Amino acid sequence: MLKGWELNKAGSSFGAAPGLQRRGIIFDIKRYAVHDGPGIRTTVFLKGCPLDCRWCHNPEAKSGGFELSYKSARCLKCSDCTAVCSQKALSLNDRLHIDRSKCLVCGDCAAVCPTQALEKIGRETTVEEAMKDIEKDSIFFEESGGGVTFSGGEPLMQPRFLEELLRACRRRDIHVCLDTCGQAPWAVIDRIRPLVDIFLYDLKSVNPDLHTKETSVSNALILENLRKLAEAGQPVIIRIPLIPGFNDTPEEIRDMGGFIKGLPGVKEVSLLPFHDIAGDKYLRLDRPSPIHDLNPQPDEEIKINKRRLEDFGLNVTIGS
Ligand code: SF4
Ligand code: SF4
Repeated sequence: MLKGWELNKAGSSFGAAPGLQRRGIIFDIKRYAVHDGPGIRTTVFLKGCPLDCRWCHNPEAKSGGFELSYKSARCLKCSDCTAVCSQKALSLNDRLHIDRSKCLVCGDCAAVCPTQALEKIGRETTVEEAMKDIEKDSIFFEESGGGVTFSGGEPLMQPRFLEELLRACRRRDIHVCLDTCGQAPWAVIDRIRPLVDIFLYDLKSVNPDLHTKETSVSNALILENLRKLAEAGQPVIIRIPLIPGFNDTPEEIRDMGGFIKGLPGVKEVSLLPFHDIAGDKYLRLDRPSPIHDLNPQPDEEIKINKRRLEDFGLNVTIGS
């Protein structure tokens, strides 16, 4: 069993009903996205991730299950939430405290919170419900050459749900991008790849030791799957999250450039500069922020790394 896949509650315990009734867990839908593939896109975020990247800017996506988030700045200290919690998991003094060992993440407290200071992260949905949400934007897809992008977390962690979503998009002729870290059994990727128009494939490092140290997972399968996709002629755009002190050194960039150059047919690379806006998300989940010591790179450094990759004959853009 791959590391992380044993946590795939959403992919294993959900999805008993086939087709449009199959269920999964999403945690957000972003509309009018312009950096997640061509045209104007709707990005659907699925919960669960097999990696544990130190710089993760979606910590609420890591777990495959529901989570409770608390924004203290919005809290009125009204006690509405403490009154409804059947588990006595909430206490209020200087601020609200959540005893997460007692919390069942039922969401009752979030439902009564007048300011949405409390939020249940994750929503169970059927394929049909998700498609209704996606189709609200179809006019923008047609006019801009856009479509839907499935992201996460790692969407391949809910393989059956994802497959039904992809089939539903194909039936409606909706263009699909799949944003993936590539850490999944090849059999899963091979099964869904005919239903994907473009893979947005995250590449963090080609250095095995560094990758394992910073993401807690080896990159062996990730690189192997990427090579197989390229050899199969699948359209792939490589996305490199540029992390200060991790993969933005000249050596790391050159090693990645050399690796990508060796992938048949892969020419497009998107550099994703680091940003530190996720710090608050960790606090809202009562977790220490692991990125508080990282600072965004100056624009000039990002451009230098772009040129280093272009030296390998790659088409490099700077994303967001
Ligand atoms: S999610 Fe449910 S169990 Fe958890 S604190 Fe809120 S009301 Fe209590
Ligand atoms: S219900 Fe919301 S605003 Fe009121 S105390 Fe709870 S978290 Fe704060």
